[in-house]
Amino acid sequence: MEITNPYLKRVYEKTVASNPQQPEFHQAVFEVFSSLDPVFNRHPEYEAIDLMGRMVEPERMITFRVCWQDDRGGWHTNKGWRCQFNGAIGPFKGGLRFQKNVCDSVIKFLGFEQTFKNSLTGLPIGGAKGGSDFDPEGKSDAEIQRFCQSFMTALYRFIGPDVDVPAGDIGVGGREIGFLYGQYRRLKGAWENGVLTGKGLSYGGSLIRPEATGYGAVYYLCEVLKHENDTIAGKNIAVSGYGNVSWGIMKKAAQLGAKVTYMSGRDGYVYDPDGINTEEKLNYVLELREKHLHCKPYAEKFGCKFVPNAKPWGEPGVDICMPSATQNEVDLECATKIVNSGVKYYMEVANMPTTNEALAYLRAEKSIIVAPSKAVNAGGVGVSALEMAQNSERLVWTEEEVDAQLKKMMINIHKVSAEAAEEYGLGYDLVAGANIAGFKKVAEAMTEQGCF
Ligand code: GLU
Repeated sequence: MEITNPYLKRVYEKTVASNPQQPEFHQAVFEVFSSLDPVFNRHPEYEAIDLMGRMVEPERMITFRVCWQDDRGGWHTNKGWRCQFNGAIGPFKGGLRFQKNVCDSVIKFLGFEQTFKNSLTGLPIGGAKGGSDFDPEGKSDAEIQRFCQSFMTALYRFIGPDVDVPAGDIGVGGREIGFLYGQYRRLKGAWENGVLTGKGLSYGGSLIRPEATGYGAVYYLCEVLKHENDTIAGKNIAVSGYGNVSWGIMKKAAQLGAKVTYMSGRDGYVYDPDGINTEEKLNYVLELREKHLHCKPYAEKFGCKFVPNAKPWGEPGVDICMPSATQNEVDLECATKIVNSGVKYYMEVANMPTTNEALAYLRAEKSIIVAPSKAVNAGGVGVSALEMAQNSERLVWTEEEVDAQLKKMMINIHKVSAEAAEEYGLGYDLVAGANIAGFKKVAEAMTEQGCF
């Protein structure tokens, strides 16, 4: 992976220089730029309007203070962010992440990626991301509630159903979205439930939204398998993480005759040769997540193997790897193990789970097909956009309706990515194809709207 177009090279170097100490952001920009070389070589008009120089600069970056009180009466202060990266094709849209390691670099890389991902969904949503360095681990419900209320008090003036629509991400699930919406409603004095997605069903949430990222990833996987004249039935899958996304993958894989045999947590990984596929097991995974526990209790409960302090990659008998936890969890060492174990499909699910070094290695390997997170996990935000549509029309769609639209969306994302790569003579390169296809729509909108 390299950037050869002189204009893109200049923009990349300037981005690095003017955003010091933001390695994740640099990484995301490098990865996208290295795919866009052929596009900029063919379209010099983009350089003339400094399109890429504009695309790497967020339209707006809001930072704020979040003060909250713990249950013992102690006061704490955290940082809060909302990065409205690109609004050319729709209201800003993207999740909120509450995690200790959240910083400018993480928020910006996520916002940048979101712009292309949201474009790929084919729906009118711009790119954004936000969050806080607040650590939800070990906090009581009351503490989470106070934190969310304080966070929304600082944020509410910058968002709205037609302005910017946050949702969940790591550390932000249904409970947090509920507290955030409650506070928004209290402050605005109006029923604007399209302001957030991932809501509970009783106040405007969409059916299938909790499952959407995982289901979407499996629908996308099925398209890749179809392209390879292969099928999902009988496949063994390794995932990392045991959050909402992994749970959705486990559920859909089980429905389609495949099984997830590995999952991991911060404490190590679990190997369940029978698959994490029964209702009891799937519900237990949800329970684990709610309690912020580690994954070892699963192994104890269901009598299977637990390996402490290790990642689930490179074990025998796995056909498909789906890293679903967090950024840069797969480095070159993990990638080498994955290839050597004979895995045929590497589907990124978490946002940017692969270091650029590992990604370059995997993409160069002929024995493995690599698909990028901005395409594979787009079903989550895609169904968020369907939730916005339902909120706008004040209607509720059936589970079948939402699921059918999600499936159609994922089939189309795979199709447009494969076609974009083909158009630029890159063969079946899903990474470059997703970047190019996502870029095209945003580039067209920005060009037509003039320079700002
Ligand atoms: N956080 C998810 C993502 O990375 C979902 C965002 C949303 O639904 O707005 O795409």
